[in-house]
Amino acid sequence: MLEKVVIANRGEIALRILRACKELGIKTVAVHSKADRDLMHVRLADEAVCIGPAQSAASYLNIPSIISAAEVTDAMGIHPGYGFLAENADFAEQVERSGFAFIGPTADVIRLMGDKVSAIKAMKKTGVPTVPGSDGPLPVHDDAKMREIANRIGYPVIIKAASGGGGRGMRVVNSEASLVNSVHVTQSEAAAAFGDGTVYMEKFLQNPRHVEVQVLADGQGNAVHLYDRDCSMQRRHQKVVEEAPAPHLDPESRAKVLQSCVDACIKIGYRGAGTFEFLYEDGCFYFIEMNTRVQVEHPVTEMITGVDIVKEQLRIASGLPLSLKQEDIKILGHSFEARINAEDAKTFMPCPGTVKHFHAPGGFGVRVDSHLYSGYTVPPHYDSLIAKLICFGEDRETALTRLRNSLDEMLVDGIRTNIPLHQDITRDANFQEGGVNIHYLEKKLGL
Ligand code: ADP
Repeated sequence: MLEKVVIANRGEIALRILRACKELGIKTVAVHSKADRDLMHVRLADEAVCIGPAQSAASYLNIPSIISAAEVTDAMGIHPGYGFLAENADFAEQVERSGFAFIGPTADVIRLMGDKVSAIKAMKKTGVPTVPGSDGPLPVHDDAKMREIANRIGYPVIIKAASGGGGRGMRVVNSEASLVNSVHVTQSEAAAAFGDGTVYMEKFLQNPRHVEVQVLADGQGNAVHLYDRDCSMQRRHQKVVEEAPAPHLDPESRAKVLQSCVDACIKIGYRGAGTFEFLYEDGCFYFIEMNTRVQVEHPVTEMITGVDIVKEQLRIASGLPLSLKQEDIKILGHSFEARINAEDAKTFMPCPGTVKHFHAPGGFGVRVDSHLYSGYTVPPHYDSLIAKLICFGEDRETALTRLRNSLDEMLVDGIRTNIPLHQDITRDANFQEGGVNIHYLEKKLGL
């Protein structure tokens, strides 16, 4: 087992990783910016190293600083969490070259899945269902060819940047008239934003749900899935509420897609925790991308399977073979997660500041993953996620009732939060029914 690990992240996920390390007897090193000295996990870690000023570019994205911190503390591995450097193949490569374990897949696999064109190609080969599309980069200088591709796929189509991320670098095209211009605009935007102007085309699905599959693989030929999650409740492509398992799926397509993800992991030599993201429409799954890291919403899967995903990541990175067998992983109930952000519930503007008083809800089936404490000041420099409220129940209705009651109980005094938005969502009849599509929340809010 790795003896000491650097936690290259902040906030709730850093604390989550620290807890898993402690349970496994792994020593921890917190690396933090100057603005983050007061983070809860910094207090609890065995060692702490300040890696730079508040701006992420100079601290949490500063590869030499993070690797130096691992060197001076004699750590054995680095856990990147999510966001920041978690899906940066160069980082993974430098970590491993410097002699540390990168707690995630190999740099080659991150690179393969980080480019959406190569990811889709790889998935097609392994039997994961993909969206009908251009089968590779668009020939941007051949207008006739692009029209032909779009006609074959059928309008509306979506032009996407191969290196895109965070919901950026996409444009929907409804008819041939705007096709060529849209491709060129997306291409130059992508070149400016991601340093790569490669674009491709896909069929635009009009009312899909976002359904994703959690996997674990050891890079030694063993892989399992931990079922699915539904993350359709989104605003501006940002997930707001997630649940596991995804409700009302076609059982046959579901069984097939779960197996295809396991097969894909083995074929591409996947190592660690990962998520295959799909759009789901009319009983069919369409792969859109793979996230090669632990995700914000991983706790809903942990609650329904009883598997600690972060501990599994640490075991795999220590070189241990997967101890889980697919037949032992059962769905024990249902779970929801509400992402609590320091933001105005109506305008969605971030609201950093000092938390005067924090009361976390509790009781049977209630889990709060949060770094907040009374007196903590939420800095303005980072993501506004301050807590994840996760509720489990033996069935969907019980879990949802528990989430609603827990939201009413939660108290974050001193800063504004989106708790009122979550209270509304849990009282929404269509959400209670389950299976709303990715546009539902924006429509409900009149956005
Ligand atoms: P990113 O890496 O930026 O998150 P994704 O490929 O995961 O990009 O797409 C983000 C979101 O864009 C999806 O969750 C979905 O809402 C929308 N989207 C992407 N591809 C399609 C498509 N082919 N049809 C409809 N919506 C899509």
